[in-house]
Amino acid sequence: MVSNSSRFSLALHGGAGAKTGEDYTVVEQHLAILAAEGEEMLKGGATSLDTVEKMVAEMEASGLYVAGKGSAPNLAGAVELDASIMDGATRNAGAVAAITDVVRPISVARRVLDHSPSVMLAGNGARSFAEVHGAELIADPENYYVLPVGVSEDDINVSDMQHGTVGAVALDIKGNLAAATSTGGVFGKPEGRVGDTPIIGIGTWADEEIAISCTGTGEYFIRTGGALTIANRFALAGDTLSEALQYMLKDVQSLGGDGGVIAISRSGEIAMQYNSDGMKRAAVGSDQSLIATTFASCD
Ligand code: ASP
Repeated sequence: MVSNSSRFSLALHGGAGAKTGEDYTVVEQHLAILAAEGEEMLKGGATSLDTVEKMVAEMEASGLYVAGKGSAPNLAGAVELDASIMDGATRNAGAVAAITDVVRPISVARRVLDHSPSVMLAGNGARSFAEVHGAELIADPENYYVLPVGVSEDDINVSDMQHGTVGAVALDIKGNLAAATSTGGVFGKPEGRVGDTPIIGIGTWADEEIAISCTGTGEYFIRTGGALTIANRFALAGDTLSEALQYMLKDVQSLGGDGGVIAISRSGEIAMQYNSDGMKRAAVGSDQSLIATTFASCD
């Protein structure tokens, strides 16, 4: 039994758009390496906020997921990305929507959290903010993006709401929670389309009780109240962590959507649930040995 001060938890997801029959071994290995890195950070006293930013930034730069380098152009030919991050202890938050030409959108969202009176910046304004605040820009956007694992050219040209996203939630040894999420959105999306991911309270939420990161067809998450519905079910309606996730995911499903959620409670409990074929995910903590999987049940 660990004491309160050494308790920590970390959960990652690489999107709930996983397809049955596809081999995600490379992704699972990457998630396991990242989770081990995050475990070391949290054990060493890193904040949950720094840890979730680092986890998501590495997933964005890897090209393995539909976020950052693995993102595809919208119907107008531009790669527009969304990301958000929230600190549960202070409820400070930062987000960028439809941002272009940055290597790590989550680190721009973090700069919004740290340096802007705004919570969300979009489009050209977000891009200018990134530049002014020293975020790394993509030198050659025409040749930067790659197809992530499990995605073909055919997929990205079809406007059928196929999707992918990355996210992280963490509890640090000081007892503070944080959440971060980043996405290239859905394939075949129209210019200017913004999903749930950059919306604080929908794709991402953290407070003193819970940290949440969602993945799935964003329109449905927006229409169900997404992460904040889970937070309220958990804090106010008496749901267990698992029941709160199920409540929101069932609502998404009833409207015709699919997706998944990772969440951590103040006590360090981890929940990872989805109603799609699979969700690339990993978890580790002081009470949880490291797991990384896509389809197997691990709740
Ligand atoms: N939620 C993301 C969006 O709608 C996509 C995903 O999570 O797969 O933009």
